[in-house]
Amino acid sequence: MIGRLSPNRVVRNDSICIHCNKCTKACPVNIDVAKATEVKTTECISCNECVNICPKKGALENKFSKKIISPLVILILVFTLFFGGIFVTQRLGWYSNVAAPLKEGETLTIEAIRGFMTLSDVATGLKMDIKDLYTKLEIPESVPPTTKFKELSTFVPGMTDEKAKEILTKDMENPISQETKTNMVVVTEPPKEPVVLKGYMPLSDIAKILNISIEELYQKLKIPFTVPPTTILKQVDTFVPGFDFEAEKTKLESNP
Ligand code: SF4
Ligand code: SF4
Repeated sequence: MIGRLSPNRVVRNDSICIHCNKCTKACPVNIDVAKATEVKTTECISCNECVNICPKKGALENKFSKKIISPLVILILVFTLFFGGIFVTQRLGWYSNVAAPLKEGETLTIEAIRGFMTLSDVATGLKMDIKDLYTKLEIPESVPPTTKFKELSTFVPGMTDEKAKEILTKDMENPISQETKTNMVVVTEPPKEPVVLKGYMPLSDIAKILNISIEELYQKLKIPFTVPPTTILKQVDTFVPGFDFEAEKTKLESNP
C-alpha cells in the first residue's frame, strides 16, 4: 500500500533509452524496467540499482512528485527515516532493541530462554535455585551468575546455549524423585589445610597465606601501619613493645 502511495517512482524516458536491457538485468526483484515507462509495481524496493547502472544519462531517473531526485538524496532520506524512526520510537518508549527484564513473578519457559539472559535471570525465570541450575548444567561455582547464557561455553567447554536448554528440558521431563534426592550423596567442601605460621615470616607473606589484605592483617594484630610489611612476625615487638608474637601467631592459626 505504501509503495503504491509513494510519490517516489523510477521513470524511463523511451526517447533517450538505448534498450540495452541493463536495468532489467540489474533489478534484484526482476522488474522488467527496460519495458516500463514508470515503475509502479509495489515490488519495487527503491534500491536504485537500475538507475545507477543505466549508461544513458536521462534515460532512467528517480522522480519524487514529478521532480527528479538523485539516488544519493534517496539514500540519505532512507537512512534518515530508518534511524530517525528508531530514535523517535525509542524516545517515545514504543520500541526498544534491548529485551525488557523479567518482571517480578513472571515465569520463563525453557524455549523462551535467550542467549543474552544471565544465569541468574534464567534461574529466577524458571523458579529454580541458582545452585540447582549450576548443578544441572555442571557449571563450576567460580562462574559468576551474571554470565550470559550464550557465553556458558567459555566456562564449560561444549556447553552451547542450545545444549544447555536441551539438558534443562530433559531434566524437566524427568525430574529427580524425592526418593532419589534423599539418597543423593551430599557433597561437602573438603576440609581446609591448617594454617601454619612461622616467626621468621614477614607480615606481607602472612597476609598472603591468610588470603587477606595487609591492612586487614594489621587490624587483626592491632599494630600501626607504620610497621613495615617486610618486618618478620617475631620482630614486630621492636616497633610495638610488648607484642607477643607467639600468642598472635596462635590466634591467627586458629582463626585465620
Ligand atoms: S529501483 Fe530497484 S527494485 Fe525498483 S525497479 Fe529499479 S532495480 Fe528494480
Ligand atoms: S539501462 Fe537505461 S538505457 Fe538501458 S534499457 Fe534500461 S533505461 Fe534503457
